[in-house]
Amino acid sequence: MLLMPPMSSVMESHSGQSFIRSTAFGYVDVDAESAESATEEGNAAYRSAGSVLNLADARFGIVDSDYTTSRWGDRSPDGLPVYVWTFRKSSTNRTLPPPVYLLRHEIGHDLFVRYLVPSTKRDQYGGDAPDWLDEMAAVAFEGEALKAIRRRAAVRYAREAKLIPLQRFLTMVHPEMATGSIPASSGQLAPVFEARSNETLQFYSTATAFYDFLVIRTKSAAIIAQLAAAFRDGENLDQWILARTGYEERENGIDALNADFLTWIACDPDYGGGASR
Ligand SMILES: [Zn+2]
Repeated sequence: MLLMPPMSSVMESHSGQSFIRSTAFGYVDVDAESAESATEEGNAAYRSAGSVLNLADARFGIVDSDYTTSRWGDRSPDGLPVYVWTFRKSSTNRTLPPPVYLLRHEIGHDLFVRYLVPSTKRDQYGGDAPDWLDEMAAVAFEGEALKAIRRRAAVRYAREAKLIPLQRFLTMVHPEMATGSIPASSGQLAPVFEARSNETLQFYSTATAFYDFLVIRTKSAAIIAQLAAAFRDGENLDQWILARTGYEERENGIDALNADFLTWIACDPDYGGGASR
């Protein structure tokens, strides 16, 4: 239960700048200027938690970093995860804030690790799940505009033979982890907004495309929740994917799956088969 004021009675606090508002997903504690974008990101993440991760009512708060000493993913006194975000360029901070549309991506990471496949080890990206599955959960939370950019990039990478082959994608360390740009020792995912590895964009595009491909091939919108359950059950995810996509009986099934994946990228209307691309 949240001890928050209802939507109609906006409470003023934090030297008159921040407003705590209750929302469908929990609450936002941000300045009036950021309230709309914070609520929009939270609503989108809440919907994706249901459709992508099968989490029926994943509630959380979104708080402006200027108004809290909490860190990303801490729990509020009410027990909700708190997502601390920098919405504005402050007088003390000379760097630009991260684009707010990345907030839902980062919430996707946290919810996946918090509820589906937690982290029990140090020095790893996200949780115990393979890095590609951690990242796939987050890109699945992204909005349509960003997805369209990732899809166009996937088509381009595929044409230039730069898309990461599934044989490698399913086993590789996250490119940003490999460069050491993610502080892994905390066991908590810290948002990173500037790619240091030149393979990061391919990794994200491959994750978006493989997610779309799996949803279509398996006819399962919640394929990520199913993959997480298979992982928790100790299944070999490569074999599980091959079985779900009809390649388990094939010799070199993963090669056949990758060939199918590339053909699909070339032809699917949202990818290379679209009229506008
Ligand atoms: Zn990510």
